[in-house]
Amino acid sequence: MTEPTTAEQTQPKPEYYDHDDSDNVCFLCGEPKYTTRFEITHYDFPFTFKECQCGLVKQTPMPNEKFFEWFFNSSVFYSSHKTGKKSIWGYFDYFGEEPSRLRSDKWRFKKLRKYFESIDPDFSKLKLVQIGSGGGSFLHVAGEAGIDARGSDVSGGFADFARKTYGVAVDVGRFEETDYADGEFDAVILFNVIENVPNQVEFLTAINKKLKPGGLFILNYVDTRKNMIESMQKEKYFLYRPPVTYIFDTPVLNRTLEKFGFETVDTIHDKRTLNLEKIFTLLSMNWMQRILKALRLHKIQLRLWAYPSRVVIAKKAREADAI
Ligand SMILES: [Zn+2]
Repeated sequence: MTEPTTAEQTQPKPEYYDHDDSDNVCFLCGEPKYTTRFEITHYDFPFTFKECQCGLVKQTPMPNEKFFEWFFNSSVFYSSHKTGKKSIWGYFDYFGEEPSRLRSDKWRFKKLRKYFESIDPDFSKLKLVQIGSGGGSFLHVAGEAGIDARGSDVSGGFADFARKTYGVAVDVGRFEETDYADGEFDAVILFNVIENVPNQVEFLTAINKKLKPGGLFILNYVDTRKNMIESMQKEKYFLYRPPVTYIFDTPVLNRTLEKFGFETVDTIHDKRTLNLEKIFTLLSMNWMQRILKALRLHKIQLRLWAYPSRVVIAKKAREADAI
């Protein structure tokens, strides 16, 4: 059998892992005691998820920045559809999903509007940054409403796409390393980011620092508590993927926010617009996808409370503790 040409791109190297992170480390409780949750073998290489006694779930060994530099700029990230991967690493077809994403972000903005107004009723002075701004659809929607919104993204490909498609401003690089002033932002937003951050301490401390006192920190996450799809699918559940570093349920997320100086204000269901093709890929039901495609129904969009994912609205209550 000949070696597939994508072999090099789909195999991370040993230096892509943080060898200082281990079963002796838990950033949340400081009293690490891990048990193995799943050993994943159905991707191109094996990896493990472990759960600490405090409820936090992490991948071990932990992928590091080098892993993400490689991953976010590789074709396995943008499109499993194009690389022909059966198991979805990043996105099924990122750029093809833009219309669905724009609809999701319009819905999200409508729901979040009142929290932004509570900071600045006419948005004339409201400064927002979205970390992991991706294709730029949320920045576009916020910008149309009059908010000074900019993106921060580690992927140059996404930044280019966002600039070209929507004319929005995006800084390429890691948020922690970008030269923003302390207290520069009234709001920091992240969608589908928190589960891909290898160093949560560095990341959440930086967010706290760059926010004004009382500023909003808004993020979504997939809740694994009482999650029926996760209990049914077990290690096939879509969260157990190579680039997922940490998995949170609601109590663990609230505890994390509190630890880094944020106070939860509200939580809402994160309704998403997804097309049928993507839904069945996430569910690993490729046979269903083939049927839908044959019937030409695969691009039908549905708005649903997927995953189930929640959006937390928190505010900066104090400076993050020095850790
Ligand atoms: Zn712990």
